[in-house]
Amino acid sequence: MSSISLIDRIDAVLPQTQCTKCGYEGCRPYALAIANDGEAINRCPPGGQAGIQTLAALLHTPELPLDTHCGEHLPLLVAVIDELHCIGCTLCIQACPVDAIIGANKLMHTVLADQCTGCDLCVEPCPVDCISMEPAHKEWTPTLADAARQHHRQRQQRLDALHPESSSLAAKTLANKAPLSQAASIDTETRQQVIAAALARARARRQKQ
Ligand code: SF4
Ligand code: SF4
Ligand code: SF4
Repeated sequence: MSSISLIDRIDAVLPQTQCTKCGYEGCRPYALAIANDGEAINRCPPGGQAGIQTLAALLHTPELPLDTHCGEHLPLLVAVIDELHCIGCTLCIQACPVDAIIGANKLMHTVLADQCTGCDLCVEPCPVDCISMEPAHKEWTPTLADAARQHHRQRQQRLDALHPESSSLAAKTLANKAPLSQAASIDTETRQQVIAAALARARARRQKQ
């Protein structure tokens, strides 16, 4: 088995939330560390024990309990932006690894729930604490993982094109506020529809107050 295909096989097992809880910049860097550096297979909370079991079988290595220093295996969550209090700073867009947030500078932002992996990376940067993580009421599936991998890859390609130098993904993200604020990888018409719906929700809430 070549090293490349081993990385792909490990990556295929990982859930692709891109949450960085394993200590790496995303699922693929963790897959690389497992394949090339013998990193422990028990550092992925979203994958939980089932994921560790699959990795152990793939790598013919003993199954380990989840390393809870990385986090607990919890039910899937989804980010929700309180559109009434959002100040449009774009920090959440910059933090989102899968382009699940749309909005523009000084305009209200909203989350594409179907695209959100529940990674919670957008919560901490929000200066007005208007993002909450709520139950997603669904399971994370291989189809969602494939979509998340694709969205993450598109985002990386965008950042790599803007920053061909070999800095980390985090550094490229920080350096690219404006391009990232163009937001999610959806077509213009869908983007306009999502923003119009979010504005209508915000207006309706304001009228109730
Ligand atoms: S889902 Fe999160 S913890 Fe698991 S491999 Fe991907 S980035 Fe790491
Ligand atoms: S919207 Fe927030 S929780 Fe959802 S994927 Fe993006 S950063 Fe993660
Ligand atoms: S970080 Fe918070 S205030 Fe800034 S755009 Fe996102 S939701 Fe709005």
